[in-house]
Amino acid sequence: MAQIEIKNVAKRFGTYQALHDINLTIQDQEFMVLLGASGCGKTTLLRIIAGLETATTGEVSIGGRRVDHLAPKDRGIAMVFQNYAVFPHLTVFENIGFGLRMQKLPNDEVKGRVERTAELMHIEQLLKRYSGELSGGQRQRVAVARALAMEPDVILMDEPLSNLDALLRMEMRAELKGVLATSNTTAIYVTHDQVEAMSMADRISVMHQGEIVQADSPIEVYRNPAAEFVAGFIGNPPMNFLPATPAGDGKWSVAGQVVDGPSSGKPLKFAIRPEDMRPADEGLTATAKVVEPLGAHLLITCEVQGSMFRAVLDSDMSINPGDQLTLAPQLDRMRWFDPDTTLAVA
Ligand code: ATP
Repeated sequence: MAQIEIKNVAKRFGTYQALHDINLTIQDQEFMVLLGASGCGKTTLLRIIAGLETATTGEVSIGGRRVDHLAPKDRGIAMVFQNYAVFPHLTVFENIGFGLRMQKLPNDEVKGRVERTAELMHIEQLLKRYSGELSGGQRQRVAVARALAMEPDVILMDEPLSNLDALLRMEMRAELKGVLATSNTTAIYVTHDQVEAMSMADRISVMHQGEIVQADSPIEVYRNPAAEFVAGFIGNPPMNFLPATPAGDGKWSVAGQVVDGPSSGKPLKFAIRPEDMRPADEGLTATAKVVEPLGAHLLITCEVQGSMFRAVLDSDMSINPGDQLTLAPQLDRMRWFDPDTTLAVA
C-alpha cells in the first residue's frame, strides 16, 4: 500500500512563497498528474515528496508513514527527473540495472528486468552502448527504464518525456501509461503539457501560483472546471468567456441572447468550449475574423459584441473572414463563473 498524503505543505524560498498550504491525497496505485504553467510550483512539490527539498511547514506521508525526516533513498520511491543524470561511463544495461545490483538481486533477475524495461522504452538495441554517447531523448528513456526496473511502490516523474520528438512522445506516453496501469505503482507525474496530462492521468491536480486549484479526473477538469483559471488553461483552444447579466427568473442575457442559467442576482461570466457551439437559426451573432482549417475541423476566431470568441466547426463548412455567423451553445455544456471569486457557480 503506497498512498501518499500531503498535509498543509507550504514552501518559501527567502521571501518568495512557492507553495501555499497544499493538501492532497494520492491513492494507492493512482496515476496523479501535477499540471500547471512554468513556475506554478509543481517541481517544488515533487521534490518535497522525494525528499530533495524540505517543506517550510507541513507533512508528507507515504504508505501511512511520515517521511519528512527521511533521506530520499529511505522513502521507497524511484524518481525520474528532467536532469536526473544517468551515469555516462556505464553502459545502458548497467545504468538500467544499477539499482537492482545495489539491491543484490540475482544476475538472471537483473538481466530479465533490464531487458523487459529496455524493450518497453524502445532502447533494447542500445543496451551495450555507453550512456555518454546517447542523445538527450535516449538518455531520458534510460532514466525512465532505470526507475521502472526497480518495480517501485512509488514513482515520481518530472517531465520524463520532454526531450522526445512529438511522435515518440506520443508512443512513450501510451507505453508508460500501459505499464503503470498493470503494475502496483503509485505515480506522480509532473508536466506542463495538458494533452499528456489528460491522456495519462487517473486524476489531474491543476496548479496555479503555488496552489492546487482543482484535483479531479481528466474529464471532470475538462467538463466542469472549478475555477475560471482551469477553464482558461485546459483545452486547446480554451473555453470562451462572455459577460452575462441577469434577466430575471434564472434567465441571462449573453451578448444580446437570452439563455437559462443559475439563479444569481449579480452579473456572472458565461463560459463555453469552442467545440460546443453550433451554427443555428437563433443564437449569438459572431463575425468571423480568422478561419483556420485544421483538417478534421475548422477553427474560427470571431468577434461577439467586442469580445474574442472561438468556435470549432465542421471542416466542410464554407466560412470566410468577415462572414456573419449565428452560433448556439450546446445547453448542457454552458458553465458560469463568479467574476469576484473566479469560482464556478453551479
Ligand atoms: P517549470 O515547469 O518551469 O519547471 P514549476 O511549476 O515546476 O516550473 P518550480 O520549479 O516548482 O516551478 O518553481 C516554483 C517557483 O519557485 C518559481 O517561481 C521558482 O523561481 C521558485 N524556486 C524554485 N526553486 C527555487 C530555489 N531553489 N530558490 C529560489 N526560488 C526557487
